[in-house]
Amino acid sequence: MSYRQVLVLCSVLLTTHRVQSGAMQAIGVQNALYEVPGLGNRPLFIKMYPAVENYQSDLYEVYAEPYNYDLRAASAVAILQGEGESPAKGEVVFFQRHPPTGPILIQGNLTDLPPGKHGVHIHHSGDMRQGCEKLGPHFNPYLLQHGGPTDPLRHVGDLGNVEVGEDGTVEFTRVDPLLSLGGRSRGIVGRAIVISANPDDLGRGGTAESLVNGDSGKPLACGVIAYIK
Ligand SMILES: [Zn+2]
Repeated sequence: MSYRQVLVLCSVLLTTHRVQSGAMQAIGVQNALYEVPGLGNRPLFIKMYPAVENYQSDLYEVYAEPYNYDLRAASAVAILQGEGESPAKGEVVFFQRHPPTGPILIQGNLTDLPPGKHGVHIHHSGDMRQGCEKLGPHFNPYLLQHGGPTDPLRHVGDLGNVEVGEDGTVEFTRVDPLLSLGGRSRGIVGRAIVISANPDDLGRGGTAESLVNGDSGKPLACGVIAYIK
């Protein structure tokens, strides 16, 4: 199948198979078959993100066998430890049943945090040589501004807030359509997840910092995301 044929197929499939994901409009995921001469029908996976006015055009990821990529379900875990004097700790597990295009299930369990809302973000780097402080900005492969997890304008690493109870613990479960354990540009393995001291204002605070990190303050705990065998 030629590049042009793939693009034509994309446009046909994606106009008929768009899925809504909260306020994030029309992230299209289509799994289909296409014919490879001599090999028969092979899987074709397409993930499409709609254009964001004044920021980016429509974006397509096309995965077509028999090129090599891993379709097996994947899981990863981050073991979080407190930064500095913070006693916070916990685990966050990520599960993707259908890499590279399927959504990710996120399940977290954190303890010894101050009660209230705290921002949760995946940062670009997983380099822990200087603790949680020098992990770089939020993971942002599409070069957009900071936002909430259901906003069309967000960093891929923007996971919003968790609400910690009076006992200092929180358990949370999320499904996120952007993160991937296999998709190259959206892959999170090897990066760090960080719990911040303050709530994330989801980019709505009206300050310059709000559009960078949601004014969520310093890190309280972090951990590197690593594959589970
Ligand atoms: Zn962000």
